[in-house]
Parts: sequence; structure tokens; C-alpha cells
Amino acid sequence: MSGEESAEYLVSAIEELMAEKLRKQDPDYQITVYCDKHLGVNMRLEASWGSMEYGDTSVDVNRLIEWCCPKPGCHRHYEPTILGYYDRELGRRLRRDAKRQPRGNHSGRPFMYVGKVGDGRGYLCPLYKCDERGPVVAESVVDEEVRLPTDPLAILKKAERKRAIEMDVFLSFASTSKLSIDAGSPENRDPDYPDIMCTISGQKYWFELGQIIHEEVAEKVNPKRRTLDDGFSYDQDRPFVNLIVSKAEKKYETDCAPVDLVLHFDLRFGTAASVLRLCEKHSAILAALTSTGPFERVWVFDEFNKTVILSS
Ligand SMILES: [Zn+2]
Ligand SMILES: [Zn+2]
Repeated sequence: MSGEESAEYLVSAIEELMAEKLRKQDPDYQITVYCDKHLGVNMRLEASWGSMEYGDTSVDVNRLIEWCCPKPGCHRHYEPTILGYYDRELGRRLRRDAKRQPRGNHSGRPFMYVGKVGDGRGYLCPLYKCDERGPVVAESVVDEEVRLPTDPLAILKKAERKRAIEMDVFLSFASTSKLSIDAGSPENRDPDYPDIMCTISGQKYWFELGQIIHEEVAEKVNPKRRTLDDGFSYDQDRPFVNLIVSKAEKKYETDCAPVDLVLHFDLRFGTAASVLRLCEKHSAILAALTSTGPFERVWVFDEFNKTVILSS
């Protein structure tokens, strides 16, 4: 190892230690969460929600990650940091019963989740690598398989939510980027158009959004994505490379107006330093987005710190 190489190794080892320390303050999205009303039912992880669904509450629950119960008729959700287990039905106020729920012994007092303990269920701490336990809920529980609903309303709701989240990310990016995007002009569009249409100084302009996420979050959100090694790793490369390649191959309907790509992430999915390192490592495929791909420019946007960390 040359001096330069060993210095680089040391820097990345220190960064990994710091990242590991940060992760211990956050919930582990690998955990298997059960519905506290249906102890046999595995809840499903859902990525970021828009804030508007929570319009009538005072907490800033914008962009939380949470689990929801797939059992028909059950409105139970679990969010580890602010809400705990709670009920939410479309068009209704959130109903919380957090007072009775056990919490972990950390700053912010995260809500414990109902997890597998032996043959039964017990409250467990959701923070990464914390083995703190709460009360036992049941000594023995039979697992219950719930099929995913295929009703059109659920699919429609999902599409609406996706649009709301995209607009939310875009407006945050727009206010950070100093591009003179005309106020009130951004609108959602569906494929084959890019995600957002707007005007910049009166000229039509498109933006496509892509979220940079961790391998294991990607897997939880979409369990069909199988990876070869089943080890526990925070390797972000695969979803990152897949994201870039899929965007580079896209063909958009743009009415001859330019399209920019906004790659965004927040702290739950990576620190700015780790994302920057990814971008450097894969700079060649990033460059292909603009040279042979459909994009005019590429931006990398840190949603948590509201900063553009890279632009081509
Ligand atoms: Zn349930
Ligand atoms: Zn804990």
C-alpha cells in the first residue's frame, strides 16, 4: 500500500465509523414490524410520505418512513420517531394512542415496535443495532399471510402520493438551486413525460427526479429486487448504478424542451460525503447521462441539508 492509498484507507475507515455512529441514532429499516392489532401480520415498509396528508396535525411529519398494515380494513401504521403506532384513514384525522406505547431509552424516545420474540411477540427498540427490549405482547403467535390488494383505488392513491412527493422534492430543490423557475409554474406529469414540467423565464423546461437510496431500503420497499449476497451491508452502489443506468436509457416526450435530472437523497439514505464518493466512483456513467443520455444537466440534491452537492 502506498502512503496515499493508506491515507485514503484511513479516511474511509473513519468515515465509515462516523456513518455507523450516525446510523445508531436512526431506526433500522431492516427490522420486521408486526401490526399491534394483528400480531401475525407483517407490516409493509413505505418510503416517504408527502406532508399534505397530515395537514391537520401540528407535527412536521414530512418525509417520514413508516410501515403500514396490509390487512384489509386495518388502518394501522407504525412510524418509529414521532408517531408510534397510529390509525390513519383516507380523509380522516390521524388517531394516535401513543401514550400507552413503550419507548426506547434514547434521546427523542423512539417508539418501540412489535417484533418477533421466540414464538411470540414483544416490543423491541427500532434503532439500528440496539437490543433493548420492552414488554412481551404474546407468548405464541401464528404468522398470517396477507395478499397485496389490487384494487384500483389503492393503485390510484399510490400514484397520487408519488406525485405529491415528487412536487415536494422538486419545490425544495427549486428554492435551493437558484434557477429562475417561474413561481406557480411546476406541474406533475406522467410518463412518457418527465416528472415535472415548469417554465424558466417563460421557457418550457422539464425535470426528472431520481431518489438515491440504500440497498436495504430499496429491498424492503420492493422485495422483488433480489441481490446475490444476503449479508448485512450498507453498500449503496447497486441501487445507485441501477438508478443511473435506468435514467440514461429513458426516452422522454418533451415537446423539444430540455430535461434536467435531479438525483436526490436525504440523511436516512446517506450522508452528503458518502453520496459524493459514489458520484466520484461512478463519474463515467454519470457523465453518460448528459453525453449520450436524454439530459441537459444533472443535479445531486441533498434534501436534508437543502443543498445542491453536485451539478454538471
Ligand atoms: Zn393490522
Ligand atoms: Zn434502543
